[in-house]
Amino acid sequence: MIGFGQAGGKIVDKFLEYDERTGSGIVRSAVAVNTAKADLLGLERVPEENRVLIGQARVKGHGVGADNELGAEIAEEDIDEVQGAIDNIPVHEVDAFLIIAGLGGGTGSGGSPVLAKHLKRIYTEPVYGLGILPGSDEGGIYTLNAARSFQTFVREVDNLLVFDNDAWRKTGESMEAGYEEINDEIVKRFGILFGAGEVEQGGEVAESVVDSSEIINTLAGGGVSTVGYAAEEVNLDDDGGLLSRFRGDDSTNSMESANTTNRITSLVRKAALGRLTLPCEIEGSERALLVLSGPSRHLNRKGIERGRKWLEEQTGSMEVRGGDYPVADSGYVASVILLSGVHNVPRIKELQQVAIEAQDNIDDIRDESEENLEALVEDDEDELDPLF
Ligand code: GDP
Repeated sequence: MIGFGQAGGKIVDKFLEYDERTGSGIVRSAVAVNTAKADLLGLERVPEENRVLIGQARVKGHGVGADNELGAEIAEEDIDEVQGAIDNIPVHEVDAFLIIAGLGGGTGSGGSPVLAKHLKRIYTEPVYGLGILPGSDEGGIYTLNAARSFQTFVREVDNLLVFDNDAWRKTGESMEAGYEEINDEIVKRFGILFGAGEVEQGGEVAESVVDSSEIINTLAGGGVSTVGYAAEEVNLDDDGGLLSRFRGDDSTNSMESANTTNRITSLVRKAALGRLTLPCEIEGSERALLVLSGPSRHLNRKGIERGRKWLEEQTGSMEVRGGDYPVADSGYVASVILLSGVHNVPRIKELQQVAIEAQDNIDDIRDESEENLEALVEDDEDELDPLF
């Protein structure tokens, strides 16, 4: 997992915290890359030897100030330094690379597509991106950066998972507090998804565990992906299932199993029809993966099978995979849906429209800049002479 830029680094840090807390073992190795020294120093969990400061000769550790062309240039010039940190990790032990970046800024926005291109040239493991779109209130330059980076990043990775800050923005909240919450949401959703692929086969009593190859196959084929989530609390103390099994009470058992199945199907619908990391029309998604996580007695094959069928109908896709991710001590049953190869995404079209307007505006201002400055500096009748 490689965090590029400030947002990318912070989110990788959060994934490490999630791994520590849940023991899910998602992150084999974590690297953070930045042009700003202060951002790297602010990280808590990424090992110091894996924090790479690039562009020191150009920007002296002060960042690129939302100039993503400079971000891309620096990444190209200093790619060997990034590779140096990746050389420390046992690449044969990773299933894939994941590059995380906010696409509205400079360093991550410009640098992550460059890194993706580099990694794809060197390694056979898939290279995925997790791109964060800026809020629409961030302004034209951030939107323009994101729109240009998005185009480039999609082309360079095996799949671009997208999270749209705009869809998750809350009014009346400070930006920092807002990002805290948003980052938790990101880590929760992708944590369950990627964590599912780390479960040892044949360990828990799971009926059909998701394997990392199923995640990889769902992402294969490229394009843009989005993730849905829904959860429901289940009572941990309520061991009715176990007791009734001891009692051999078949009617209780079948009722429970029906409840479990119904709960799962409704969670699948909620996850698909609720807020996605990148809001879009789910119809027309090319591939999907459904993961149900929770205590194994609250999961069953029938529920997942029904949820899978429903997803096939809704997306029109013939490639819908599904499985469970048993978490023994969880108080929740959660449904996570990865929709890969989505096409109908109004938010991207809107982002591009605003970006084009911003670009035109910037060009106009630049064109007029010389004239405007001259009008200011020169006196009307040209009576003054410059010193030299
Ligand atoms: P960089 O350091 O130049 O790559 O730029 P940043 O990562 O600071 O910011 C790029 C964009 O990422 C911003 O425009 C925001 O939309 C977004 N962003 C910044 N910090 C966070 C964060 O902590 N969480 C999330 N979700 N987005 C962030």
